[in-house]
Amino acid sequence: MLPLADLRAALEQQLRFRRDQLAELEAGGHARGRGGTDPPDRRNEEAVYGLHEVDALVVAGARQAVADIELALVRLRTGRYGYCRSCGAHIPLVLLRAIPRTTLCLACQQHE
Ligand SMILES: [Zn+2]
Repeated sequence: MLPLADLRAALEQQLRFRRDQLAELEAGGHARGRGGTDPPDRRNEEAVYGLHEVDALVVAGARQAVADIELALVRLRTGRYGYCRSCGAHIPLVLLRAIPRTTLCLACQQHE
């Protein structure tokens, strides 16, 4: 049997973390405090552009993670958690513990 309560707790904790991260990125953007000790005139446009690109990647990654976690939680509720959503194979517990939002077995992850 899978330790579903543990995995659900891990998923819910990660979902909160990702939603906080997204809220911070979308609300604050470049205006948030990180690195804010430099006066603006010391940053050239290239550096600012690069920072925005990194933010966009982080936002995309966080959105994907939220979607994955929500899907995993739905599968927990419907009793499908721990089975590959593509081929139906058992996903190894060691993989679920490492990445609780996994909904694909290793073979299918390599095909995606
Ligand atoms: Zn599979």
